[in-house]
Amino acid sequence: MADLRELYQELILEHSKAPRNYRALEAANHKAEGYNPLCGDRFTVYLKVDGDSIQDISFQGSGCAISKASASMMTQSLKGKSISEAKKLFERFHQTVTGQATNNSNGSEAEVGKLAVFAGVSEFPSRVKCATLAWHTLQAALDGDQHSISTE
Ligand code: ZN
Repeated sequence: MADLRELYQELILEHSKAPRNYRALEAANHKAEGYNPLCGDRFTVYLKVDGDSIQDISFQGSGCAISKASASMMTQSLKGKSISEAKKLFERFHQTVTGQATNNSNGSEAEVGKLAVFAGVSEFPSRVKCATLAWHTLQAALDGDQHSISTE
């Protein structure tokens, strides 16, 4: 288990050092800014949505390793997904980082995929907001055109 956790941490560190889709999106038709005052994480999430499909997604900002890696991996997971798939994945991800994920729903783990690396966050309640900031920001971006959200 210790080895597994180290591996997870490596993936998080790797994404925080070299975040994917880290840029402003010129063609974005949805965007929102999210702020986590507890840690100082601040990110903008950009989306190009066509109908129900997330054609492109990116982010910019600054924050701790967990918040940045989470944003990076979120953009990787959601590109090409539908909005309902994105919302479902957020639900699963939220359950994962708050330690509420259940094993009795077959396939849920496969759906969360690499995002399962954040399961360790559930042992550190103060970091849950770091891990979910990008996702809350995503939801704000999907729900409106221009928004600012705070985790407080
Ligand atoms: Zn943070």
